[in-house]
Amino acid sequence: MTEYLDISISSQWTIYLLPVLGFLLGIFLARRRFKKQKKQLRFSNDYFQGLNYLLNDEQDKALDIFIKLVETDWETIDTSLALGTIFRRNGEIDKAIKLHQNLLARPSLPAEYKATVLIALAKDYLQAGWLDRAESLFKDVVGDAEFTSEAQKCLMSIYEQEQEWENAINIARRFQSRGAKSLSATTAQYYCELSLQVFNQNDLKEAEVLATQALTVNKDCVRASMLLADIAITRGRYQKAIRFLHQVEIQNIQLFPLVVEKLVLSYRNTSNLNKALSYLRNLDQKYQEVSLVPVITSLTSEMFGEEDALQYLSEAVLRKPSLKSLSTLLKLQTTEIDQFDNLISTVVEAITSKNYDFQCERCGYSANTHVWLCPSCHGWSSMIPKVH
Ligand SMILES: [Zn+2]
Repeated sequence: MTEYLDISISSQWTIYLLPVLGFLLGIFLARRRFKKQKKQLRFSNDYFQGLNYLLNDEQDKALDIFIKLVETDWETIDTSLALGTIFRRNGEIDKAIKLHQNLLARPSLPAEYKATVLIALAKDYLQAGWLDRAESLFKDVVGDAEFTSEAQKCLMSIYEQEQEWENAINIARRFQSRGAKSLSATTAQYYCELSLQVFNQNDLKEAEVLATQALTVNKDCVRASMLLADIAITRGRYQKAIRFLHQVEIQNIQLFPLVVEKLVLSYRNTSNLNKALSYLRNLDQKYQEVSLVPVITSLTSEMFGEEDALQYLSEAVLRKPSLKSLSTLLKLQTTEIDQFDNLISTVVEAITSKNYDFQCERCGYSANTHVWLCPSCHGWSSMIPKVH
């Protein structure tokens, strides 16, 4: 009976209490919403203040605000990262490093941002020239699938700068096995660098192994064929050298001018200049490569006399007029004709020598000597002989 009374009393209380509780809950929720809005408003003011500092070029003050902001609201981290990028691009590496180290030091840094901040800091180190520190950070994030290709590119760039070709090969192979974009052309260049190193130390056997490896990785690697030809020439095996140099026609005809002299030398040493001339004339017909004209002219002159050379050259100049051919033509004629032609020859020579001989296909960088790695855009094998 007592129990029954208790229950009935509680039910009665509940009837009266419910509206009161509802009312109190309403007030509580409203206050919470108001507080939150107030907080967001404060964030927005700080945020805009930070942006204002940025616009007024007061980046130090902006840096302080964004670092504070990020602590209370990680959603502003993108702005902080953008600020870091601005610092790095402006060459203010110390500020970029301070910002990124600050972010990393916060225990509350959400796990999903950690790799992004690490990559950003590693890029700062890279730009500052602290390659060892950069390398160890990139290695930390290399396992993070989302950052695979970015970390890989940065690591490869570090190894290229440090000329640590074996490390570069390992990274390239590792990422290629994970289905990254084909890195075979780049990997082949790394093998060529290694091959060249041992070639210069007179270790022809190892140089051959490495250059062959380069060709296995990328059958179109002109540099590897050239290295193998150089090794064969050093050993006096000219027939073998000729075979490697012929490959360049298939690999990249634009780079053929790089090997033409070695090819003639090899044919000369096998007493087969006839074959050299017919091979080069055949190429000339096929590709109309003006850089071949002077070599063919000189070979024709050597073997069949000046008259035949002149006839070939006149045809070549008319077929594809170029300063190079004209210059060759004038040079050939000066042995017979007067001083006036000499003058023209000098002028034309001056024009052709003013022009750069090689140009990067990717970025347009020009140079007088051929290099395999473009110093401007860091593209491998992008420098090709320029037609004048
Ligand atoms: Zn370039």
